[in-house]
This record gives sequence, structure tokens and C-alpha cells, in this order.
Amino acid sequence: MVVGYPDALRRAGLRVTQPRVELLSLLDCIPEPITHGDAVKLLGDKGGDPATTYRNLIRLVDVGLARIASVVGGVTYFERMSTDGKQHPHFHCQKCGTISCLQEAQITSAPPPSGPWNEALQEARLTFVGRCPNCRP
Ligand SMILES: [Zn+2]
Ligand SMILES: [Zn+2]
Repeated sequence: MVVGYPDALRRAGLRVTQPRVELLSLLDCIPEPITHGDAVKLLGDKGGDPATTYRNLIRLVDVGLARIASVVGGVTYFERMSTDGKQHPHFHCQKCGTISCLQEAQITSAPPPSGPWNEALQEARLTFVGRCPNCRP
């Protein structure tokens, strides 16, 4: 998908800026969740300064264009919100530290069917932990 980033930003109520367009397109192209530091490195000059990139990541999450995939050891991993709104779990490798999307897996634990805890729910965020296929002997 290469079209429509300015439109997507506008529809979400955000002002269209070049760093935001670059950030959204980066999240769209990259297959795995990335940290703020990754985004700064990958965007280079195109992303503006690191503080801007951080604010933009938060804004994209606020408006639902991106989401927090996982928080591991205090580090937040961001990814593009899938267009069908479906959420998938992630895998954190304890050896190499990578976070991978398990696109084919589903979060099947059912939320409380009703009541205050059901109303409190915003999203499900599940991270499996272990050794990724690359790190297994
Ligand atoms: Zn690994
Ligand atoms: Zn993911």
C-alpha cells in the first residue's frame, strides 16, 4: 500500500506533516514491531528530531492508526494498526530480544461477557515468551 497516508492522517484528524507521513509509511512497510529508537534510526533525517518522532508515534496510537504491540523490559514496540482491526499476539525471544508478530495466531481468551470489566476493555495485548526459531539449537 503506497497511497493514502496523507488521507489516512487527515481522516484521523491529524495535521499532515512530512515526518508523520514518513512514519506511517515506515510502520506500514516494516513487518515487525519497532521501538522509538528503531524509528529514529530508520527514518533518519526524514522523521524530524527524536522528540518529534516520539510524539508522532503516540499521536498515531491515540488516533488508532498504530498500536502498541508489546512492552518488554520497559521498552515499547509500535506497529501499524491492521486495517481489519484484528489483533494478533507477539513473541518475544529471550535470547536475541526480537519481537515477532504471530499473524496466524489468535487471541482466543474471551473477555468478560458484560459488566464493568468488559466496559473497561480497550484492547488485548498478548506476548508469548521463549526462544525464536533462529535462536533454537
Ligand atoms: Zn531469537
Ligand atoms: Zn504485530
